[in-house]
Amino acid sequence: MTDLSKGAAWINGRIIPIADASIPVTDWGVTHSDIGYDVVPVWKGAFFRLEDYLDRFMASLKALRMEIPQDRSAIRTALAEMVAASGLQNAYVAMVAARGRNPVPGSRDPRDCDNHFYAWCVPYVHIVKPEIAQTGTSVWIAKTVRRIPQDSVNPRVKNYHWGDFTSGLFEAKDRGFETTMLLDHDGNVTEGPGFNVFAVFGDRIVTSDHGVLHGITRQTVLDMAAARGMGIETRALPLEEFWQADEVFLSSSGGGVIPVTKVDDRHFSNGAPGPVARHLRADYFEWLDRDALCTPVPYP
Ligand code: PLP
Repeated sequence: MTDLSKGAAWINGRIIPIADASIPVTDWGVTHSDIGYDVVPVWKGAFFRLEDYLDRFMASLKALRMEIPQDRSAIRTALAEMVAASGLQNAYVAMVAARGRNPVPGSRDPRDCDNHFYAWCVPYVHIVKPEIAQTGTSVWIAKTVRRIPQDSVNPRVKNYHWGDFTSGLFEAKDRGFETTMLLDHDGNVTEGPGFNVFAVFGDRIVTSDHGVLHGITRQTVLDMAAARGMGIETRALPLEEFWQADEVFLSSSGGGVIPVTKVDDRHFSNGAPGPVARHLRADYFEWLDRDALCTPVPYP
């Protein structure tokens, strides 16, 4: 039997080892980053908030005018069969719609392209290693690049336009920081590669509402904070205000709530994860197990 334990891909209805999965070099997904995608976590054998991720993916397809042969139910089935075949209990599960190849010679018309869907899964990805997330991570605010404006590339459509994040990551890694976060052109805090950013002020949490992906984990954090009776503000977060925060944390499907103890040369919450981030991180792992939010994978 084929070994899919390192990951699997669903391409044209076939489930194959991740190492064998590829797309053509002339696909606009490759030549123009013309892709809409989403990533849903599987945790302890179940998808978390699957329908919310599918909602966002379907909205992305519409925004991108991507017409794939599969409907929502076929996508759901493909994801379930692929993860089931892989046997992975904890997984990073990507669903992707690519603009595809343009069969008309010389055509630059996106309407001519053959849009297509594929999916892949690999063992669960923590965007920050759990042992680092546990003690708090470090974030470098990119200095040479700003988040691409939301009226240039819509950040609410999960996309492959990572040029700004990649520049920020080089800056961060060259300085020994774990990751990077970007400001918008007005000096507000936006997001980073794979995560949203939260600032804590007493019993209030603030996160940007514009220029960012509306993360499903961001929504889970808002839900968990509401359940704890905390104040919630989704609005622009100017950098000057951000510096006054008691605590900072990140949210991502790749690891949940990730406390931040250092931003540039500034230490937050005395260099250890603050109580709000710690509680919300614990809540997240508890919510991952909630039956009402889980869709079990139909393993054979
Ligand atoms: N912002 C960006 C740019 C992302 O790529 C991601 C996830 O990969 C997030 C935020 C967090 O979104 P979610 O909580 O849905 O994983």
